[in-house]
Amino acid sequence: MAVSPDLLEILRCPYCVSGPTRKAGDDPGRLELVKGTWLVCQEPDCGRKYPIKEDIPVMLIEEGDKWIDTPVSELAADPGPLVEPTEYVPVPRPSDFGTSRQGYDRQRLALLLLSILGVSILIAGLVYLLRPSDSSDA
Ligand SMILES: [Zn+2]
Repeated sequence: MAVSPDLLEILRCPYCVSGPTRKAGDDPGRLELVKGTWLVCQEPDCGRKYPIKEDIPVMLIEEGDKWIDTPVSELAADPGPLVEPTEYVPVPRPSDFGTSRQGYDRQRLALLLLSILGVSILIAGLVYLLRPSDSSDA
């Protein structure tokens, strides 16, 4: 648990402290740390829960929304990685460009070979069709 207690002390449920959804009181949206990896909004009608992923509290209303209907007892002790693998977009590195160009060259080579094969078949067919007609009579 590397999130500092000082940080946790000042964090509040973003839904309950801002805009028209701000709750009444001097200090609305207080959060309780649960299982070391969840911040649970203490407002009775909120129910939002914010995961701490890789020691970083994900204080997004959309994230809290996902867990409104999940009881605290059913929260996973490990909320998962900060960035979901499916959302991961790799940043191209110079070495990747080399690899992709190599793949492109291989694709072009395969197309070239296919074209040569196609032309060969075409020529063979023409030769067969245009062969001297007397040879078929023989
Ligand atoms: Zn809240």
